[in-house]
Amino acid sequence: FLPRLVASMEDVEETYIMVKPDGVQRGLVGEIISRFEKKGFKLTGLKLFQCPKEVAEEHYKDLRSKPFFPKLIDYITSGPVVCMAWEGVGIVASARKLIGSTNPLQAEPGTIRGDLAVQTGRNIVHGSDSPENGKREIALWFKEGEVCEWTPALAPWLRE
Ligand code: UDP
Ligand code: MG
Repeated sequence: FLPRLVASMEDVEETYIMVKPDGVQRGLVGEIISRFEKKGFKLTGLKLFQCPKEVAEEHYKDLRSKPFFPKLIDYITSGPVVCMAWEGVGIVASARKLIGSTNPLQAEPGTIRGDLAVQTGRNIVHGSDSPENGKREIALWFKEGEVCEWTPALAPWLRE
């Protein structure tokens, strides 16, 4: 029992989810939060934020050499974003599935991008691509004390 308990704690991952400026402008914040809430993941951080250029550049630093990088930075800084930290078992890959493919025209119906977006450059939401990047991005976007440790009352109804 005890070893399994320890192993299951290790399966808990953190991911950084962000409603991009187009998602905020289009009034899709509630809808997007709702998808993750309904799935059963735990929200641990949430804020509306007008992001400085330096934060956007640091967030997307792996894409610095891409031709679309300047436009991407303009897009992400064009209005407020909604920053979220979420926690759950297998959440990194699961959130990417809920979000759908980078190009919304290729994203499956039922996914956020598949249902609500049409263009790669206006794909309304971000999700971390690895547990390491989840931690890195949460540390980048949130200050100390902004992420909450809490136990949802529903926890035993979501995980055995
Ligand atoms: N992007 C773009 N043009 C491209 C590829 C990506 O504008 O050809 C933007 C798009 O907003 C995407 C973000 O850059 O979500 C990050 O790209 P990545 O390949 O990491 O896609 P994601 O992880 O967001 O699905
Ligand atoms: Mg990515």
